[in-house]
Formats: sequence, C-alpha cells, structure tokens
Amino acid sequence: MKEVEKIVVLGTGGTIAGTAAQASDHVGYTSAQLGVEQLLAVLPGLPRVLSGRSLVMEQVAQLDSKDMDVATWQALAERCAHWLSQPDVHSVVVTHGTDTLEETAWFLQAVLQPAKSLVLTCAMRPATALGADGPQNLMDALAVAGDAPRAGTWVVCAGNIHSARQVQKVHPYRLDAFSSGDAGPVGWVEDGRVRWSAWAEAPRPEALRPAASCLALVLQTPSAQWPRVEVLLSHACASRQMVDALVQSGVQGLVVAGTGNGSLHSALEAGLQEAVRQGVQVRLSTRCMTGQIVGTALPWPDVEGLSPVKARISLLLSLMGARDGGLNQG
Ligand code: ASP
Repeated sequence: MKEVEKIVVLGTGGTIAGTAAQASDHVGYTSAQLGVEQLLAVLPGLPRVLSGRSLVMEQVAQLDSKDMDVATWQALAERCAHWLSQPDVHSVVVTHGTDTLEETAWFLQAVLQPAKSLVLTCAMRPATALGADGPQNLMDALAVAGDAPRAGTWVVCAGNIHSARQVQKVHPYRLDAFSSGDAGPVGWVEDGRVRWSAWAEAPRPEALRPAASCLALVLQTPSAQWPRVEVLLSHACASRQMVDALVQSGVQGLVVAGTGNGSLHSALEAGLQEAVRQGVQVRLSTRCMTGQIVGTALPWPDVEGLSPVKARISLLLSLMGARDGGLNQG
C-alpha cells in the first residue's frame, strides 16, 4: 500500500510566532513566542489544504530572525535536508522572521539546491494582532507546498511567491513587505489556488559542489571557523578606515555595495585595493534596490545581481570551499 505523503512544517520563530499584550499592537510585541503547533492549530480548512497528506511539525529554533546565527542555519539546513530526502515527504515549509528571511532562503537554496519545494513564510504582524497576516501566509505557503513539486526555495508572503535569488524585504511595516524587483514574483496564491508565472525562471544551478557534499561542509565547519565576510557601503564622504580596521581584524571577504552601477568612493576603493593585496576576497554589488551592475571598470567580480547580503553568503560559501571552481562567481 502506498504510504500517505507528508508535508513538513519547521518552526524557527519570528513575528509570525510573536505575541503582544494588545490586539492593536503591531510594533511593541515579542517575536518567537508560539510553537509551530500553535501556529497550525488556528488555521481553518487545514484538511482541505493538505488534501489527504499528513502534517509533521518540528520546532527547529525559536528566535527573532534579526539574531540569526550560524548554529541555527546549520540546524535548519540539516533538518530541511533530512526531510526533503525522505521519499514520502512531498515538501517542506519553514516559518521564519521577515528580517533575515531572504538571507536564510538564499543560504538554503545555495546549500541544498532542493529538488522539491522548500517554502519559507513569515508575518509582519504578531499572531495576537486583530489583523494578523501569519495564518493566511501559512495557509498560502501550505498551498504552494501542496502543489506539484517545484524544485527550489520559495518565499511566500502577502499572496506573492518569490524566488530565493530575487526576494528582498523592502518595507519595514507594510504587510506586503517583500519584492522581487525587476523580476517580479514567480507566482501568486489566490483563494488557495497557486498560479505560477509563465515567465518565472527556474533556479539556476549555483556552481557549488553537489548538495550533499556542500551540506556536509557547512555542517562540519564549526561556527568559529566560518569565513568572516562583511558588507560595506560606499557613500558620500566615505573613507577607507572601516576597510583597514576589518583587514586588521582578520576579515577574509568583503562585499562592497557601490553607488549606482557599482561605483566606489576613491578613498574606499584605495582601501579595498590594499585589502586585496593582503589576500582579502572582494566582491562588488550595488546599493540600488533593483537592477544589477552593468559592466564595471573595477577589477573585482560583481555578484550577478545578488543583493549585498546574499553576495555575502555566496562569498562565504566560496571561501569555505563549497564551490567547485574558482572564486570568481557571485
Ligand atoms: N524581527 C522579526 C524577525 O525577523 C521581524 C518579523 O518577523 O517580521 O524575526
């Protein structure tokens, strides 16, 4: 007899699991208070969304995602890999805070390159709010997870489905806080139905080692030994002091978010030239919210449209040795 398929929901905290003293309080709440079982218990029509599949729930972490750390990423990557590898698991959903959601999504996509749907969701209002958005977002994420498997890591928020590569938090308060910039969402969830965009690009392979050995490396490298990669911003009146201090403190990689088309203040550029001479890997990104660098005279690889914080993850994986080839790709 064929086993009943499972959808696995992993909890990590965030505002979706947050509580406030008043139902009107959208700001003065505490993140990461409710367990994943409590989040699922309030969903109406859950059996319909699951359409015969069973639900597995696991609390992997309970934190405000602004405090995301290596240990939590390692635990989450391990649990996602474990469940995704089970033949009777259809897909995995992760509940997460919005603040670093795009970074976790990119990290999981890069490390696991999932062959099934891995769906992250979140909320902008705590679970106790009168108009809490978490339950609907979780229902929508379950709808995407229950749809035909779509290889990759997806972010579901406010009825939109975003790819891990493009998604960015763009608003500190509004319910529809995420954008995929020029690319747009890869799909939508409407009244429980999933509509994938006809032009949505499939996640491109990340030129990393095969997922299993990439994951092994990420799990086996103790957090103190993860390469130190920092993000810097070019701006009016910028200096090289920050670069010099970071180099002195042993930084191994720097992602610099340039102004516009990747241009840098000359003082900052001079500091970075010196950093490269000292063996630091430098990557060039833009501080513009949308678009990507179109040609640059600077000698450092750009990051193929990744945001600075995602380029930081790619560079650290490179430095960890997760990449097969050279270090030149974002
Ligand atoms: N600080 C919260 C978090 O990222 C914000 C949220 O979830 O909306 O966990």
